[in-house]
Amino acid sequence: MRIARYTTGEDPCYGVVEKDGGRLVVARIHGDPIYQPVTFTGERTPLEDVRLLAPVIPRSKVIGIGRNYADHAAEMGSTPPAEPMIFLKPNTAVIGPGDPVVMPPQSREVHYEGELAVIIGKVCKDVPRERALSVVFGYTCGNDVTARDLQRSDGQWSRAKGFDTFAPIGPWVETELDPSGLRLTTRRDGEVVQDGTTADLIHDVPTLIAYASAAFTLLPGDIILTGTPAGVGPVAAGQRVEVEIEGIGILSNPFVTR
Ligand code: MG
Repeated sequence: MRIARYTTGEDPCYGVVEKDGGRLVVARIHGDPIYQPVTFTGERTPLEDVRLLAPVIPRSKVIGIGRNYADHAAEMGSTPPAEPMIFLKPNTAVIGPGDPVVMPPQSREVHYEGELAVIIGKVCKDVPRERALSVVFGYTCGNDVTARDLQRSDGQWSRAKGFDTFAPIGPWVETELDPSGLRLTTRRDGEVVQDGTTADLIHDVPTLIAYASAAFTLLPGDIILTGTPAGVGPVAAGQRVEVEIEGIGILSNPFVTR
């Protein structure tokens, strides 16, 4: 299922994105599908008539993984770490599809990083790798926006990756997907700048869940950004970045200055 969070001008709600003849519609569901089974209200709205929102708002954390593709580690002039390299982005950085990424005046070098985002569906701790996919609610596209100059100068990555709007996710959560071999493409103003596959993840999704949950209790709605392939680069104000992942869809956000 493709589960969207959206508004038609009223309070945010959830729905399943479905084909209906030649168009896509959103079939509204009761409540929050992370916490209750999907049951339909009967209300159906053409997708083009709703505003999609971030498909999940993590109550606690966005977990980032650094240098998890060998070609990206190489372009950064480093080697991949033996174990997953974890950092955190605050949940206040999360925005939805179409929302503007606001580039802060503190940085002169804001980069896109297209990534597969894993949405956790259960409270869990110390999840064995073999059972890791059972705690996943679904997958969406993510952009681990990074102030590259501040990442270098700060030493710690919290500020460089944690500015408001630096974690776009969407357009919806795909709940039935094998995350192990998905093509991931990033476009900047239509030009393909990243073209990778999650088959090249150094530490795969089950490994990342096991590793992260050995450190932190994971809560429903927590997000793991799994790392970016080669081809990261700067964005100028007025440009648009699209992250497309096979089997999910396209996340598109304009970049602006404040
Ligand atoms: Mg990243």
